[in-house]
Amino acid sequence: MTKQKVLVVGAGLGGLCTALRLAKKGFAVEILEKHHQAGGRLNQIKQDGFTFDVGPSFFSMSYEFDELFKSCNIANPLSFNELDPLYAVYFSDKTKPYLIHKDLKKLALEFPNEKDFELKAKKYLAAAKGIFHDTEYRIVKRNYNSLFSYAKALASVPLKHAPKLFKNMWSELESHFTTQEVKVIFSLVAFFLGATPFDTPAVYSLLNYTELEHDGYWNVQGGMYKIVEVMLKELQKEGVKITYHTEIVSYESQNQVITGLTDKQGHTHVADLYVINADAAAFRGKIFKQEKFSTEKLDKMDWTLAPFTIYLGVKGKIPNFYHHNYFLGSNFNEYADKIFKSSVAPEKPYYYVNVSSVHNPDSAPENCENLFILCPVPDLRYKKDWNDAEGLADNIVADLGKRIGYDILNQTLTRKVMPPTEWESTFNLYRGSGLGLAHGLNQVAAMRPANKDEKYKNVYYVGASTVPGTGLPIVVISSRLVQERIEQDLKELVTA
Ligand SMILES: Cc1cc2nc3c(=O)[nH]c(=O)nc-3n(C[C@H](O)[C@H](O)[C@H](O)COP(=O)(O)OP(=O)(O)OC[C@H]3O[C@@H](n4cnc5c(N)ncnc54)[C@H](O)[C@@H]3O)c2cc1C
Repeated sequence: MTKQKVLVVGAGLGGLCTALRLAKKGFAVEILEKHHQAGGRLNQIKQDGFTFDVGPSFFSMSYEFDELFKSCNIANPLSFNELDPLYAVYFSDKTKPYLIHKDLKKLALEFPNEKDFELKAKKYLAAAKGIFHDTEYRIVKRNYNSLFSYAKALASVPLKHAPKLFKNMWSELESHFTTQEVKVIFSLVAFFLGATPFDTPAVYSLLNYTELEHDGYWNVQGGMYKIVEVMLKELQKEGVKITYHTEIVSYESQNQVITGLTDKQGHTHVADLYVINADAAAFRGKIFKQEKFSTEKLDKMDWTLAPFTIYLGVKGKIPNFYHHNYFLGSNFNEYADKIFKSSVAPEKPYYYVNVSSVHNPDSAPENCENLFILCPVPDLRYKKDWNDAEGLADNIVADLGKRIGYDILNQTLTRKVMPPTEWESTFNLYRGSGLGLAHGLNQVAAMRPANKDEKYKNVYYVGASTVPGTGLPIVVISSRLVQERIEQDLKELVTA
């Protein structure tokens, strides 16, 4: 029997995982990618002797990678490092950083002004744990065939969590803690969803449980891009061909079936099934021209913040610097509330710094540091012009140097700045949004663009803007869900 051919559009983590899962199940898989190498946002840049991870620098739910390899009958070739402390938080009006430990006794010592911190944190995390485990399989890790099946799934979640659907994460934190530092630090997880604690529902306090109790945070020995390298090796063993510099721009169809996808050079690629790893909402609108995803409608959807990233190769070893660091000002509520809908660059930006040379010495030449700086900024709907990118980068680097007491500006050996415009053009991220569609209750589960196309019977989607959502482990789950969807559809076809 000839194998069914699957064409995967995009070699991001979602595309690579789906390709591997399907190849292992006996499909003939081919991947097309617009960039010159695989990984999507999980990419790599080599410059002047430094090797930079482009996007992700750590992840939670590390066991999802174990599941991926196990289900493909492969011993997990990746080695993970657990982060301890999870991260350090610097406030502009405080002299020393707060170190965030999983051990609550140790963490309590960081917050002497929060009376009974350990007790309060235990209570807060117990509720968050409840939400995580009560929704993990019932809501998150599953496919939906209709809104009715979603309503049924929601009805199976204990009612005690319902109030958290109607309040935001910040007010939930206010009801548990009194000091501003604790509230701000616990609310940083909202930014991992690409939003602020003021527009993130309180149910996402479950992310505090995943970081502080459940699985913590991990990175990969040898750098995050090792994930892509090992996937490419496994795909090669399965005979999966990847063609780069190939962007799909249009399609051919007949009777609600896609008969080919056409690239920018005018070449049409034909398969039995198509899995789209490009953004699930934008691709429906821009390529398939679906009315529900017209530019006007896409612009009205909620998108996550855009990344403004800086890659720095720095001479010398910076003392007392942790692997993951947040640099915040002293006006968190006002900053988070206003800055992301502004049309100008922030004057006193809040940002995240990852020193990858701490865990991965090969990422920098001897006696040098490799710094990745991420500043969440408004997406291109709000701030279109990024001609001021180098100025904003200078501002951030000067501020960082002052705050850690190291003259980074004058010790910089190499630098690359990537504003939202470049994130958009490199990976087709809609309006430069870094994490794809946001995760408000109107855009999750059955309300998120589905992993099966509404019109074309042989088209599926995987990745951050379809189910379940964004982040590396969640995208790995997305690849499992789309594989299950395809297998279920084919089973139904056979029995029909
Ligand atoms: C700056 C930044 C930092 C992040 N940090 C973290 C982190 O620390 N931890 C974490 O868990 N997550 C993090 N994330 C989120 C994580 O990177 C994403 O959720 C995940 O990588 C998305 O994978 P994906 O496969 O859905 O999409 P992508 O990685 O975007 O892959 C899609 C691929 O499709 C290609 N493509 C698009 N359109 C076409 C087309 N028309 N034709 C052909 N190819 C096309 C793109 O070039 C791309 O390679 C971060 C994201 C960003 C931007």
